[in-house]
Amino acid sequence: MKLLRYGQKGTERQAVQAPSGDWVDATEFVAQRGGDYNEEFFSAGGVAGLREWMSSQSDLHPLDLAGVRIGAPIARPSKIIGVGLNYREHAAETGSDLPNEPKIFMKATTAMSGVFDDVVLPPGSESTDYEVELAVVIGRTATRVAAEQALESIAGFTICIDYSERDWQKNRSGQFVKGKSADTFAPLGPCLVTPDELRAEDVRLWLAVNGEPRQDSRTSEMIFGVSELVASISGYMTLLPGDVITTGTPTGVGLGLDPPQFLRAGDRLEFGIEGIGEGIQSVVASA
Ligand code: ZN
Repeated sequence: MKLLRYGQKGTERQAVQAPSGDWVDATEFVAQRGGDYNEEFFSAGGVAGLREWMSSQSDLHPLDLAGVRIGAPIARPSKIIGVGLNYREHAAETGSDLPNEPKIFMKATTAMSGVFDDVVLPPGSESTDYEVELAVVIGRTATRVAAEQALESIAGFTICIDYSERDWQKNRSGQFVKGKSADTFAPLGPCLVTPDELRAEDVRLWLAVNGEPRQDSRTSEMIFGVSELVASISGYMTLLPGDVITTGTPTGVGLGLDPPQFLRAGDRLEFGIEGIGEGIQSVVASA
């Protein structure tokens, strides 16, 4: 099953894909389960409920989403956890050693946006970079789960572009979080795909800048797979329903090019993950 949110930022409505392939509005159903695709919705078994609701409807009206903004597929969660250096070739291009266990960092949840929204270069940024990633959305509370049980903790998968201001990430006296958290630096979408519909362990992910292919790999190249990541991270903190783990990026980021090529206002990014969908973003200067 696929879920998405549409409408203006902050007032998105919820939709679900019917077996026919049409999107249908689910706002009325969701209103009784937390009011959004949020912690309450996922912890109350909202995904299973939605499936049941949809099969009981005899008269589903297809939504016309042409020209309508597609938002992030979930409401703002309690946290977004990033995973660093989770593809061998990306570790090599950044000149880093392979990690012994997942290397993790936080991204501010206020960085969330949709995958067709503009990405805004923060004032003074000279080295904003892109990273296409498979993102995991947690479906039930996970504290110290075993890798074998990790899949049961997952509500679904989506795309995250883990935008990063490289100078702020590396050279500003602190943690990665400084370079990872500007507004619009965590677009998610276009939809959330439930685990029964996606072989997340081996799907293609790609990204192009101004039509030039930059990243093209498969999630099977990850060092730590989805289950290992959930198990490892849940050993350090409790993951709540709706929380996002963005699982790391393959080779081809702007930092790894010779010379490095960072994003400039006017650039256009296109990207996608097989089985989830695609996004298109324009880079703009901050107002
Ligand atoms: Zn990343």
